[in-house]
Amino acid sequence: MNAVLSAQDENHDISCNVGFTQLGTPSSFNFGTGIINSAEDFQFLLQGINGEVKVVNMINYCGGFGNFLGCAPKPGNAMMVVRTSNRLEGVLWAHEFGHNQGLSHNSSSSKALMNPRIGRSTRTVDLQECDHFSNNNDSSEDS
Ligand SMILES: [Zn+2]
Repeated sequence: MNAVLSAQDENHDISCNVGFTQLGTPSSFNFGTGIINSAEDFQFLLQGINGEVKVVNMINYCGGFGNFLGCAPKPGNAMMVVRTSNRLEGVLWAHEFGHNQGLSHNSSSSKALMNPRIGRSTRTVDLQECDHFSNNNDSSEDS
């Protein structure tokens, strides 16, 4: 995620320096099927997680039915993802974190990180999107 956001991949891409740090030890969960087929499944798996990433087996529902790599509340403080390739995983996690930070999809560029169709080359963010990524929700810097 750090590399995806901080790299300037295109001329119009902002180098957005956001530092993600893993806190705690990864652990597994042993309830449910790890498959999201409905809004109820999504809400069930979201219970009790705060600022966490839940890696699930399959996501068939994310506000609509389909086959999704990730799903995150907008805004929110947790996300669900499926495992994918190393190069795509950073993009996926950064994209879902963008939703957590209140960002909607951005179809203005096929290279936009927030494009609804992510891929290894969807890595660009604009200044406004970078501001969302940098917002900690606990700052009052207007003085
Ligand atoms: Zn999305």
